[in-house]
Amino acid sequence: MSRYTDANCRLCRREGQKLFLKGERCYCSKCALERRNYAPGQHGQARKKQSEYGIQLREKQKAKRFYGVQETQFRNLFDKASRKQGMTGENLLVLLETRLDNVVFRLGFAASRKEARQLVTHGHFTLNGKKADIPSMEVKAGDVIAVKEKSKSSPKFKEIRDMQITVPSWMTVDTDKLEGKVVVLPKREDIDTPIAEHLIVELYSK
Ligand code: SF4
Repeated sequence: MSRYTDANCRLCRREGQKLFLKGERCYCSKCALERRNYAPGQHGQARKKQSEYGIQLREKQKAKRFYGVQETQFRNLFDKASRKQGMTGENLLVLLETRLDNVVFRLGFAASRKEARQLVTHGHFTLNGKKADIPSMEVKAGDVIAVKEKSKSSPKFKEIRDMQITVPSWMTVDTDKLEGKVVVLPKREDIDTPIAEHLIVELYSK
């Protein structure tokens, strides 16, 4: 399946929620959802009663879009989450959070997950000192993510050095060295993603 290439803001409008897909724009009054908080398309403003299946499906779509993961990858992550000990929904969120592109975004090295994915693919990062250019790589507790030596002089990363970055409690960042660490794996309460993961579990359990 090909990657979605239409306007990102349509995805937020479809889900009726900010998915923060465009970096800075998402935090200002230019956000499309602030101005047009209804689904895109001709019938976007029509009231629709959703079935139970429809609600579960929307939640899954929202999670996929929030993390920028395609259907097959998402299903594979779900299957992996269900084989792990503990709650499948929580395991799924942890697997999504610990994807390399998401970790780069959470560390403040990119303005959005989309940008993080691009920076990773372009080979700007290392994981424990080794080349890491696959956005879906799973980051483990204790792993160190760093901007590659060669990339540190680029304007993009130079400006990060002057920034004050707040990261989630499960990671640390050193903006001077341009590196961050996943100290422990996040727990559900550490993840602020507005997703009701039980609905996804229900959907896939049918
Ligand atoms: Fe979504 Fe960001 Fe567009 Fe707002 S600006 S609708 S949060 S992608």
